[in-house]
Amino acid sequence: MFNSLSDRLTATFKNLRGKGRLTEADVDATVREIRRALLDADVAVPVVREFTSRVRERALGAEVSAALNPSQQIVKIVNEELKEILGGETRRIRLAKNGPTIIMLAGLQGAGKTTLAGKLSKWLKSQGHSPMLVACDLQRPNAVTQLQVVGQRANVPVFAPHPGATSTELEHPAGDPVAVARAGVEEARQKLHDVVIVDTAGRLGVDADMMEQARQIRRAIVPNEVLFVIDSMIGQDAVNTALAFDEGVNFTGIVLSKLDGDARGGAALSVSSVTGKPVMFASTGEGLDDFELFHPDRMASRILD
Ligand code: GDP
Repeated sequence: MFNSLSDRLTATFKNLRGKGRLTEADVDATVREIRRALLDADVAVPVVREFTSRVRERALGAEVSAALNPSQQIVKIVNEELKEILGGETRRIRLAKNGPTIIMLAGLQGAGKTTLAGKLSKWLKSQGHSPMLVACDLQRPNAVTQLQVVGQRANVPVFAPHPGATSTELEHPAGDPVAVARAGVEEARQKLHDVVIVDTAGRLGVDADMMEQARQIRRAIVPNEVLFVIDSMIGQDAVNTALAFDEGVNFTGIVLSKLDGDARGGAALSVSSVTGKPVMFASTGEGLDDFELFHPDRMASRILD
């Protein structure tokens, strides 16, 4: 991820080394290169436009520092602006003051929600929490059993639609996901779990019925966090998908999944910027430990490394 973008930006800054002062033409040429590199990495056009105009304005502005040469100064500006488009400061989960902290997961089918439910609960356990999972994806065959497997691996309990159901019933569960979500949260409350993670159904594309269902679940359980999980490999579709989910469920944070892939990074760099919501976690593989808190400043530095 970001390898090609990273190489391109580094090469651009190399051209400025040794220059005593930057003319407007130098800045413009550099900004043009940055624009091309971002577009080639699949970053959304409006994001690129705003990013480059801010870099240009600041590079031409009076931010002259005796400690930095012109090339270091541009690197610093690009670093700070990258951090901004990735969401600014690191954002932690907002914990409920009373009762369980409710985290709802939303996103397209295949985005990595169920896998994330396992990763997040394992991580929360390591932080001293006592999470429970709720299986509300009654759409996709095997989604409930998949969550149960993940729960077993992470060693956390899973609330399934029909306790005591046969395996065939669990593979094709019927029922109302809103009622399951409500009952799951109630169970977590009674069993004194301090975090409850509600996995919801996705579809292959944005779909009005799915969004309405997610909206109803959100309304029924009033989550502290709604995490939108997005596959970083989906490229240019990322922006429209993120905007549709933001309008549909008004998510509070973003999880970038499959950051271990070789995508060009555009999705990762666009979604936070277009929705104004922070990236909170990164998923970096299929294993339960392939998961990290997302730090915009570290990611920006990694890109410019
Ligand atoms: P859901 O439909 O949103 O619940 O998606 P799943 O959790 O079932 O994930 C879909 C597929 O992506 C599965 O094969 C996962 O193993 C895989 N997957 C999930 N997260 C990651 C990740 O961070 N990296 C990689 N390489 N694969 C992932």
